Amino acid sequence: MTGTLYVVATPIGNLEDMTYRAVRVLGEVALIAAEDTRHSRKLLTHYGIATRLISYHDHNEKERAEQLLARLQGGENVALISDAGTPCIADPGYELVQRCHLEGIAVVAVPGSSAVIAGLSIAGLPTEGFRFLGFLPAKAQARRTVLQRCSDETATQVMYEAPHRLLATLSDIVDICGSDCRVAIARELTKRHEELFSGTAQEALTSFSEREAVKGELVVMVAPAPRQAPEMTITEQLLHLRQTTDLNWKDIVKQVARDQGVAGSEVYRESLPLRKG
Ligand code: SAM
Repeated sequence: MTGTLYVVATPIGNLEDMTYRAVRVLGEVALIAAEDTRHSRKLLTHYGIATRLISYHDHNEKERAEQLLARLQGGENVALISDAGTPCIADPGYELVQRCHLEGIAVVAVPGSSAVIAGLSIAGLPTEGFRFLGFLPAKAQARRTVLQRCSDETATQVMYEAPHRLLATLSDIVDICGSDCRVAIARELTKRHEELFSGTAQEALTSFSEREAVKGELVVMVAPAPRQAPEMTITEQLLHLRQTTDLNWKDIVKQVARDQGVAGSEVYRESLPLRKG
């Protein structure tokens, strides 16, 4: 019998965001592979978990994956965690998970926090589809190329960004996606100074430029460019689609939200009086 690899999410700031199942699994496995063992020991101590920790990070992924694989093949259960959030999401883990699949070892998710999902859930931007870009390249030209490639997407773009690069990235977003494009910036999610900025790209650039310094962890989200002629209001487009297509109200609301780059709930509210008519 081979063991199981549990991929366990941990909090992104607030220790209360640990699930009951994560605590149980981390207490039951033979070994926990963690990015920074000293950092993770604090979390484990908080929950009274005494399981042995072994380092697994960007610089020893390949070699450690082999060692962990041997333990799994020997029948031991192993958990994989990262410093915060969900492993493999802009964090180490891919190598080990992929090797487990190749060797026929079961990989089980123990889901929980992830900044990308937490950010999107409060952004008020269309989420029927979204594209996660991870961290944008640090070099200006490469960053602009990625933004350029994604600017006409029909889905909301989500990226992780370092605070000292936020202004440069926002300035690129203004240039490439337009000053009126809608953005949301989630800062320090689940922590004491949690903040959500919502507005146009230009408003975001102005607002964050006025601060002494941008601090904390950030998720930057950019709404898709409106595809419908901009002169049509939400109500006009709702009526237009109702009169010229066979779509039902649910699909109409979805399409208008996508085209106008606004939340589905906002379009739904505007559609209510029209439905009565
Ligand atoms: N695996 C993590 C996850 O599932 O979200 C992401 C790890 S990645 C190395 C760290 C980046 O995630 C940060 O630089 C920031 O962009 C984002 N992030 C992590 N925690 C955050 C938080 N509390 N608020 C906002 N962004 C956060």
